[in-house]
Amino acid sequence: MTVKHALVIGGSLGGLFAASLLRKTGWTAAVFERSKGALESRGAGLGTTRELVETMRRAGARLDVSMVVPMSGYVWLDAAGRVVHRQERLNASSTWSRVYLPLRAAIPDSDYRAGLALERVEQSGERVVAHFAGGATAEGDLLIAADGNLSTVRRQLMPEVEPRYAGYVAWRGIMEEREVPPAIHREHFDKIAFSFPDGEMSLAMPVPGEGDDTRPGYRRYYFIWYRPADAAALRNLCTDANGVHHGTSIPPPLIRPEVIRAIKQDAAERFAPDLAMVIGRTAQPLLQAITDLESPRLVSGRVVLLGDAAFVARPHVAAGVSKAALDAASLADALADERDFDAALARYECERLDFGRRIVAHGRRLGTLLDGRKKPRAEWTGDDAYRDPKRVLADYGAPHLVHDLTARDLVS
Ligand SMILES: Cc1cc2nc3c(=O)[nH]c(=O)nc-3n(C[C@H](O)[C@H](O)[C@H](O)COP(=O)(O)OP(=O)(O)OC[C@H]3O[C@@H](n4cnc5c(N)ncnc54)[C@H](O)[C@@H]3O)c2cc1C
Repeated sequence: MTVKHALVIGGSLGGLFAASLLRKTGWTAAVFERSKGALESRGAGLGTTRELVETMRRAGARLDVSMVVPMSGYVWLDAAGRVVHRQERLNASSTWSRVYLPLRAAIPDSDYRAGLALERVEQSGERVVAHFAGGATAEGDLLIAADGNLSTVRRQLMPEVEPRYAGYVAWRGIMEEREVPPAIHREHFDKIAFSFPDGEMSLAMPVPGEGDDTRPGYRRYYFIWYRPADAAALRNLCTDANGVHHGTSIPPPLIRPEVIRAIKQDAAERFAPDLAMVIGRTAQPLLQAITDLESPRLVSGRVVLLGDAAFVARPHVAAGVSKAALDAASLADALADERDFDAALARYECERLDFGRRIVAHGRRLGTLLDGRKKPRAEWTGDDAYRDPKRVLADYGAPHLVHDLTARDLVS
């Protein structure tokens, strides 16, 4: 049998999963990543699932129990800090780098080409050619677009498909465990603490600390606060002190000081004092416009879309990385099982279109109460049930699509 070769565009988690799993089925795979150096974590907490860890194991990534901070459930706190509702649910948080580094280590350096930005793809017969900035090219039997939500490959093949703004933003921040207000640390540190100020939603949780340290005392506390913002408000938030507008995402140091002062003031008015303190003490909050994305097809000849290039669900499903892992596993299985190459790609597309559509729909459902509309309970229909925070908590994540990870799943 001739060995087949895959070109993987994007060296983040989706690309690394795809390359390592294809290699396990007898393919060769080269990863092409636009960034020159090692990728840095841009986020703080990372939702984990059993599927993520199982796929990491399958990809040959080394794992151990210190990868996660275990959590015992969810708690909903009102503006006075009283517990409105509790829900037991064992799960665990991790960080982007704790997933990235072991996956990266599973790929030989000779197959990971950093500093190469794909410009366009060309297909001819049974070959696909990648053209990179600067003139370099690479040729293979299959090209896997794992180049993220603004995918160059997808924009070439389906220019009409773009991320869709959800109408709200997330403010995110992090503090050291030792700085967490004592009452929160004592009562709620091992849980995800939700709050639902009028038409808004926030959650706070423990995550690994500096150097991915998961020892008690050395962890961190991470918050995400979702707030509606129409197009004009988003534009204002993303405009720096010199009046320069940065689209839908602004580098954190350029967020205007008065914007940060205003959110801290709003936090003091809307949250329990201890939670407001968590937000108030964050030196540099990060701002992110929440979007989602659906591709109508995932295969075009010898090119497949995978991970965020294919579908992006809103972050409430906490499963972007797990979805990328499962996309890669589905592709590797289909290529290993099916004799016919086109049939393998068709099977991949069928499986992952279904999953992608369902996870995007679930993310929208979980964000219903952030749509900026006031709707009395008597007028609720369909997904309006998710205006009830208890319903949000019951279905947070995507429990019908992926399984929560517990520390026990890491002991094998
Ligand atoms: C640095 C980083 C940190 C993240 N941190 C978190 C987190 O803390 N929590 C969380 O839930 N999610 C996080 N995410 C998102 C999450 O990792 C993704 O949902 C998941 O990795 C699946 O994404 P992906 O690999 O499909 O795309 P991405 O992770 O977006 O990776 C796409 C990769 O493609 C590269 N690329 C883009 N265009 C080109 C091109 N033309 N040529 C070559 N390469 C290209 C990009 O540089 C990037 O490395 C992070 C993503 C990144 C890149």
